Amino acid sequence: MAGPKHDQQPEPASGDDPSDESMMLHALAMAREAEKMGEVPVGAVVVRSGRILAQAHNLRETLSDPTAHAERLALAWAGRSLGTWRLEDCVLYVTLEPCVMCAGAIVLSRIKRLVYGALDPKAGGCQSLYSVVSDPRLNHRCQVTPGVLAVECGELLKAFFQERRPFRKVSD
Ligand SMILES: [Zn+2]
Repeated sequence: MAGPKHDQQPEPASGDDPSDESMMLHALAMAREAEKMGEVPVGAVVVRSGRILAQAHNLRETLSDPTAHAERLALAWAGRSLGTWRLEDCVLYVTLEPCVMCAGAIVLSRIKRLVYGALDPKAGGCQSLYSVVSDPRLNHRCQVTPGVLAVECGELLKAFFQERRPFRKVSD
């Protein structure tokens, strides 16, 4: 017969997994790899049972592929690693709010939870412009945890674009 529980389980803070930040640090490390290659610094990791299954960063320039976004590549590699396209037990961490294409890929992958860093007010498909991953008309929805290490993720992108546009004319 089961008795009362005496083990001291820490209360999860408002549904946020305490390991979210540590996994986002891995995604940030991937984003920094992208930056070194002159790619827009966005990184992603797919995690299952606390283990990183796949990691990727943006490779759009390198592959000349408009769809080579970090999270889409990470999902594809996670599927290969598991031998199935169904990523039901997995969590995706990405430094920037996924675009509409990637949000579609997230729905197709049946991923359990999406954790992202910075918002993308110009192209975000999970909150900013659309809410693809939580649209009840689609056959799958995932839990979403936004804003994890959002400042760090956003600063990396801001610095990248500022470096490329150092002199902005105020007027002619
Ligand atoms: Zn995308």
